[in-house]
Amino acid sequence: MCKAPAFVFAHFAKIGSRTLTDNTGSHYRHTKIIATLGPSTQSDPCLEKLIHRGVDVFRLNMAHGSGSWASDIIRRIRQVSDSVGRQVAVMMDVKGPEIRTGPLDEPIELIAGSRIHLKTAPVAVAAGPPDVVTHPAVASVSVNYRELAGDVGVGATILVDSGLLRLKVLEKDSEGILCEVLTPGMLGSRRHINLPGVHVNLPAVTDKDKEDLRAGVEAGIDFVALSFARSAADVQTLRSFLAQLGSTARIVAKIEEQTGVRQMTEIIREADALMVARGDLGIEIDYHELPLIQTQLVRECQAEGKPVIIATHLLESMIQSPMPTRAEISDVSTAVREQADAVMLSGETTTGAYPLESVQVLKSIIGSIEPSVSLALNSRIILHEPKAKMLRSAAVLAQELGQSGIIVFTRSGFLPYVLAALRPRGVPIYAFTDVEDTFRQLLLPWGVEPFLMEFSEDPEQTILDAIDYLRRRKWAAPGTWLVAITNVLANDTVIDSLQLRQVKSTHVQPVL
Ligand code: PGA
Ligand code: MN
Repeated sequence: MCKAPAFVFAHFAKIGSRTLTDNTGSHYRHTKIIATLGPSTQSDPCLEKLIHRGVDVFRLNMAHGSGSWASDIIRRIRQVSDSVGRQVAVMMDVKGPEIRTGPLDEPIELIAGSRIHLKTAPVAVAAGPPDVVTHPAVASVSVNYRELAGDVGVGATILVDSGLLRLKVLEKDSEGILCEVLTPGMLGSRRHINLPGVHVNLPAVTDKDKEDLRAGVEAGIDFVALSFARSAADVQTLRSFLAQLGSTARIVAKIEEQTGVRQMTEIIREADALMVARGDLGIEIDYHELPLIQTQLVRECQAEGKPVIIATHLLESMIQSPMPTRAEISDVSTAVREQADAVMLSGETTTGAYPLESVQVLKSIIGSIEPSVSLALNSRIILHEPKAKMLRSAAVLAQELGQSGIIVFTRSGFLPYVLAALRPRGVPIYAFTDVEDTFRQLLLPWGVEPFLMEFSEDPEQTILDAIDYLRRRKWAAPGTWLVAITNVLANDTVIDSLQLRQVKSTHVQPVL
């Protein structure tokens, strides 16, 4: 499972009493990597190896976890990060309005033509397996959605377990619905149900989600992924709940069904980031349109300047195999070419046999493909604020200089998020902040390499500290041009400035 890493690239570094994220410059990449944690990866040694390998964000899939599981793992992620000297962000992916079949002691075999009763009323007796051999007897299983019978018509198709099992609705009764099995297979415990095109009448943030979020916020989550986001109002509901809890976690809206696709623009505007959740999306829409929807979502996010994550089945075969299929290699390169902010692993790192290899494969593909991507800046984004417009000039200047980087100082994260959205290919965005929450939230956007650092009273000293740090840690070699976005004091007035600096071989040694 979790074998020793081939090499180590994280270093321990502190400024003052604080830990910085730290790679060495040669491992810089624009496209970020998200890994979902599960049985294959949740031990301390494995977390450490994944961090060494270059995972930027860990995702906790709350469809399979409890609040106490999340608290424990977040505490250990922080401990391991501190000992490794490289920080990662944590994304809590709440279960959301998901319909599932109930628990089963044993899987039920569903044969084609047999019937199954989906019970939406409280089930008095435990669900049981059918006598599949002698007669297509009626098996039954509970479903957690009371309004199922009202939402689907006779003749409709119900998809179970990522579409592996297909059922046809035959009739409705007082307890639920009777279905005929169209595509046979084994029905396991708590399988996910998709109802393509049906607006599921469940709250955007369920009671379980709230319970999980309380635990997550307490433990310090950086992002919340909102499953089945269907409208801007869904995002607002989550945001006000997070505000009640006093959390500034950023919201990643997951687009995974038809309403979400139709409402994409409003959802993207309201959310802080988007996930193209291809697992459910590929079932809920016509599968052959998935690449078109992916491209549309990526472009819309780039137009709105919001990070976008490509999720699910990127390296699905690597759950069992140490090598990806050729088609998977192409799929990952499409995400890199489209300049998505991040690519995400799910089964590959939760239950897969090759989690470290999967991260390595993503890194290798990113490493090969990124240098071939166009140097053109994002032309879709419309910048409103003068300071944001200045960033486009900074990006143009940095690309023109070659062997360069941009350094930016931030408290809210706004400027580096805009810089990332501009996609200055070939130019690292070094973002320095003195706010710990902001620091970790900067681990997601494309191309941003965040550093946590105390700011000096004197803006000039802060710049010198930052440049010296980049030089000493070999992020930027002497001679490198740095375009600095910072405040300067001019006769007691703070003004925004864009400066050109060059890394010298020795700087005035700052007091650290
Ligand atoms: P999930 O979301 O893994 O929580 O189902 C991602 C997807 O549907 O692709
Ligand atoms: Mn999903």
